Amino acid sequence: MKKILVAGAGGFIAGHLVKELIKRGNKVRAVDIKPLNEWYQVSEEADNIVLDLRLRENCSRAVNGYNEVYNLAADMGGMGFIENNKAACMISVLINTHLLLASKECGIDRFFYASSACVYNGDKQTDPNNPGLKEADAYPALAEDGYGWEKLFSERMCRHFYEDFGLTTRVARFHNVYGPHGTYDGGREKAPAAICRKVINAQLTGKKEIVIWGDGHQTRSFMYIDDCIKGIQDIMYSNIIEPINLGSSEMVSINQLVDIVEEIAGYKMERKYDLEAPKGVRGRNSENTLIKKYLGWEPSIPLKKGMKKTFDWIKEELVNETREKKGPSRFNL
Ligand code: NAD
Repeated sequence: MKKILVAGAGGFIAGHLVKELIKRGNKVRAVDIKPLNEWYQVSEEADNIVLDLRLRENCSRAVNGYNEVYNLAADMGGMGFIENNKAACMISVLINTHLLLASKECGIDRFFYASSACVYNGDKQTDPNNPGLKEADAYPALAEDGYGWEKLFSERMCRHFYEDFGLTTRVARFHNVYGPHGTYDGGREKAPAAICRKVINAQLTGKKEIVIWGDGHQTRSFMYIDDCIKGIQDIMYSNIIEPINLGSSEMVSINQLVDIVEEIAGYKMERKYDLEAPKGVRGRNSENTLIKKYLGWEPSIPLKKGMKKTFDWIKEELVNETREKKGPSRFNL
């Protein structure tokens, strides 16, 4: 039995990871800065601790006595959050730096860092028919301001902890992850969850209009959470030294994503495009040659299938919440 620390365990991806690692027979310590009642999922079998991992002493406390570290803790959100909170995003550098130092000090066997497609050079993402970002496209560096630069720096720090100190580090660049138990409101949500919420709210209140950020032609790919969890572990236990894409290569425009959600809901609306809203790069997709070469696998759960599960989960959450409030609800938003 391995003893594994998961940082950011109160959040979306790490909450799912904790469950999977426990299922595989590991002893897991789950850490997050949020109070326990705000964690998206709490696994009773884990050692659940509330700690601010920006602080060096808290990282030592969290890592001590453990064999492996998965760092998925970050102050982050969708485009609306990262465009307006660049300093907050960059402060996450303290989490990874202090976790790396604590891991070196405690003789950790393996360290995983969750990077992002936001490290890629913006000039390579101006075409909505993006053929896919290769790992080499991160350099020369022109990352997403704030959030992306922090990720790129932290990736590099992982590399040098490996080269200089012999700490085994693994880095995956996630491309938009979605699924149940993720953020769907409050300002940190990403496009798939935000669109599901908007369509469900409209359907339940009889609203006939949906506001879309940008002109709807911007493209992205979206990876379902189950693919992400498999990929994280396969990369962690692989020999892949360099940062690698972990994303779906099924690229869609935001309009196509709305089509999918409307089809699931069985509800169509008039689209209003907010051209002033934060919209990020024009075209982004994951180029998966490297992951296929190393792992003989790539994320492949179809978007329609994953979106159906996500939609159903968000709908249940919203309906339950309204029932609990028994009054005016967020459906008025
Ligand atoms: P999330 O916001 O749901 O989870 C992150 C968790 O980190 C939160 O629960 C938060 O409270 C915690 N955290 C923040 N500051 C902390 C601190 N100082 N100490 C301890 N915990 C702290 O986000 P997520 O979607 O689960 O993302 C997980 C990781 O994957 C992040 O590093 C993120 O940047 C990366 N990532 C996610 C996506 C995506 O589409 N979700 C895409 C690219 C990269």
